[in-house]
Amino acid sequence: MVTFAVLAELKDGAARKITLEMLAEARRLAEASGSGTVALVALGPLASGEVERLASQGADRIYHVEGESLAGYAAEAHAEGVKAAVERAKPEALFIGATSQGKDLAPRVSGRLRVGLASDCTGFELKDGEWVARRPIFAGKAFAKVAWSKARPRIATVRPNTFAPLSPDPARKAQVEKLTLAKVEARARVVGFEKSEGEMLDLTEANIIVSGGRAMQGPENFDLLRKLCRVLGATLGASRAAVDAGWIDHSHQVGQTGKVVNPTVYFAIGISGAIQHLAGMSSSRTIVAINKDKDAPIFKVASYGIVGDLYQIVPLLTEEFQKALKE
Ligand code: FAD
Repeated sequence: MVTFAVLAELKDGAARKITLEMLAEARRLAEASGSGTVALVALGPLASGEVERLASQGADRIYHVEGESLAGYAAEAHAEGVKAAVERAKPEALFIGATSQGKDLAPRVSGRLRVGLASDCTGFELKDGEWVARRPIFAGKAFAKVAWSKARPRIATVRPNTFAPLSPDPARKAQVEKLTLAKVEARARVVGFEKSEGEMLDLTEANIIVSGGRAMQGPENFDLLRKLCRVLGATLGASRAAVDAGWIDHSHQVGQTGKVVNPTVYFAIGISGAIQHLAGMSSSRTIVAINKDKDAPIFKVASYGIVGDLYQIVPLLTEEFQKALKE
């Protein structure tokens, strides 16, 4: 029987959306291969009701690894936890989110297991009996198809917001296997997280992103974009020019040296569309660009373009969205 495994990314014991997205794709692959099953690997404490939720979202079997070293995220301990679960589940493939944590952990897991890793994947297919992953390259201008060596499991990090989670089916149940991890001496451990911007979703999970660039001219003008974010339920992003100027924290940066995002709608406001910015957002489903320069490169990737002064357009758009959403 072929097993497709997903590493759960947990926050306060609850699986983040990327986990549900990977479960949906693992389910599709398991079903495509006939008698496949989906295993979920969870490291550290799980919140109450999570086993049932993860089963309802596609997991057949949950390998729940516990141990004092897994209380907070520590790359070395988590890599050991994954190794222990993989040795039990013997999966064909292991999916890890292409999130900050997943990008830190996946290379370590692949090194420890001595297996291949395809990073930032957006699709998988079976070709001539071999699994092939698809990943965007050159700032999303092209796709590479990557095959793994024979060693198992094939590891892939999966770009968030690529696959839609399944509709939960409460009738689905999962078997749980508990594993205990011996204490791991970690050289570094994350001791806590600080929220950077109120109640906004993380950029990598956001459905709508409103990003500002150098044209914002200073930190105070980002309040215009925050207002639009509140109306749309969006998350605030930024170009590197705005981050480097110190107007907004680096956690908001989108691009090659920032976050790679994949929302349904991305607003690029006063952003020229440099290749390094496009590398982080060009796979967004709909791109709305506002720029006073009609020749700005951002318009080449935009689904909708507004040529004009953002200081006139953004308040008008905010007002119109507010009215439309009230109706
Ligand atoms: P600009 O290029 O200066 O564009 C500002 C835009 O605002 C212009 O198009 C202008 O017409 C428009 N504008 C001005 N006033 C208004 C107004 N009132 N109304 C409407 N439009 C207006 N950049 C990133 O964003 N993310 C990265 O991760 C990143 N990584 C990098 C890594 C490396 C190794 C390097 C070399 C560069 C990287 N960059 C990155 C920087 C990138 O090359 C650009 O310099 C940067 O993206 C430019 O930011 P911007 O579009 O905000 O500014």
